[in-house]
Amino acid sequence: MTTNQELALTIFGAVTAVGVLSSLAVYLMIAMAWQEYRARRDRPEAGEAERPAGAQLIRRAIACKCPRCGRGAILKSWVAMNPVCPACGVTLWKNDGEWMGPAVIGFVAAIGAALYAWAILVYFDFSETTQVVVPCAAALVAAIGVMPWSHSLWTMFLFITNEGAVASAPGKP
Ligand SMILES: [Zn+2]
Repeated sequence: MTTNQELALTIFGAVTAVGVLSSLAVYLMIAMAWQEYRARRDRPEAGEAERPAGAQLIRRAIACKCPRCGRGAILKSWVAMNPVCPACGVTLWKNDGEWMGPAVIGFVAAIGAALYAWAILVYFDFSETTQVVVPCAAALVAAIGVMPWSHSLWTMFLFITNEGAVASAPGKP
């Protein structure tokens, strides 16, 4: 194994380790929010439609649909969100610092993609120019590529934690 290949494997391992640790932290954060969400959901006055179950929330997030009703689209375009759900009218975007969550998700995706791409290029001994250009392109593609899902996952998270505007839902649809 060449020095470059060792270096590449080290980068690969380090990025994976950081990724696993971050996922664990995110998992714990969601698990804590989830417990509170469950407690609120189990109250008799909370309607089924207003507090959907976990699997349903995840399906809706992947489909980029409103976490509350599952019918309205979260996104106006690839990069912009609907401020309110077109189907049930719940506020999806309140605009005070809410861009932070999706921005962080996009940033992490971009860094991860760039480092993985770089490790692969180093492993196969590509030229230095390639080692700069391809990771940059990978970062850009990843950052833009995850946009719809960074928005929908973040909206789902706000919905669970009840911190975001989604909590201040008007009456049932
Ligand atoms: Zn809705």
